[in-house]
Amino acid sequence: MGGAKTMNKKELKERLWDAVDEYEELLRHIGTTLYEHPETGKNEYKAAAELKNILSRQGFTVTNPVEDQFPTAFEAVKGSGAVHIGFLAEYDALPELGHACGHNLIAAMSTVAAVATAQCCSEELTIHLYGCPAEETEGSKVYMAQKGLFDDLTAALIIHPSDRTMIGGTSYATHPLRVTFIGKAAHVADKEYKGLNALDSLVDFYKRLKELEETFDKPHLLGCIITEGGTAPNIVPDRATLKATVRALDTDYLENVMLPQIKALAAEVAKDHHTPVETEHYEPLYKNMINNAALNVYFIEAFNALHEEFGVYEEEDAEGSTDVGNVSHVTRAAQPEIAIGYHINAHTPEFATAANSDFAYIQALTGAKAMVAVAAEVLFEKR
Ligand SMILES: [Zn+2]
Ligand SMILES: [Zn+2]
Repeated sequence: MGGAKTMNKKELKERLWDAVDEYEELLRHIGTTLYEHPETGKNEYKAAAELKNILSRQGFTVTNPVEDQFPTAFEAVKGSGAVHIGFLAEYDALPELGHACGHNLIAAMSTVAAVATAQCCSEELTIHLYGCPAEETEGSKVYMAQKGLFDDLTAALIIHPSDRTMIGGTSYATHPLRVTFIGKAAHVADKEYKGLNALDSLVDFYKRLKELEETFDKPHLLGCIITEGGTAPNIVPDRATLKATVRALDTDYLENVMLPQIKALAAEVAKDHHTPVETEHYEPLYKNMINNAALNVYFIEAFNALHEEFGVYEEEDAEGSTDVGNVSHVTRAAQPEIAIGYHINAHTPEFATAANSDFAYIQALTGAKAMVAVAAEVLFEKR
């Protein structure tokens, strides 16, 4: 089609919204298809195949630049413009709960936004749809960001389903840590050989970690569980393991203050008890989310124009953690939330039910319209 160049911004937005309306069936199709076949992180073969088919049929070139690590990832590209817009799709479900985080709707909104934008302005924009698996677990966006896949983007957009429509805020940087003390086994009744009790080391570490936490003066979270503490009470434990979620609003503070001190404490405890320690990050670093101020304003304007009521988070408001944070450290990014129901929490059966409701699809259509409106704003930025 083209011709977007001759339109003003308002005309372009109207045309983009008409295009999104034309794809309402497609939006519902994606949402329900993924909902009815929930696949957990790295197993999203059906979802990825479905989305890749849709995008190929719409003239997108589909590749997978992170094939080795994430077979269910992909990047679909269409257009020849100097301004590059990235729409991020997620499609992993939760074990037992299915689409209780509403990622089926994220896939639907981002795909329809990409297709509609490509239909209206493929000469002015280069449109990227990123298929991002395993948001709940390994965070494919971490690797995609490391590989430079988002470096050429002018903006990256994604909307997450929620129990309210909200713009802004942030997310915690998180870098999960496993700490294992290695002792020496012995029978507790052995009169000669006492062994080395790894659990004693771990319990001491746990107590001292709580003291250390008192000294962390920037916004952070620390949660620990003991996952291994011996096999039988009559055997001195030769291994004891703790898993910790370590989070901070500031990635730098997490990586350069908290974690080095926690690892140093583990080494100190190991020395005190003569039980060596191993520390390992069992999941990658999710950086804090930086919602770009200009993109936030575009979303505010878009939701206003679409008569979607919304709230705005304070800059330091954070709930969970997301690998979209890593994208936001390499390009301008925004991830607002859109209401798909009320008084429901993500990762619950109630949220899963809401994620396939008629209201959710009405809201997802609004979400897709907000995304294309923001793309239009980005296109019309002075540069
Ligand atoms: Zn989730
Ligand atoms: Zn989610």
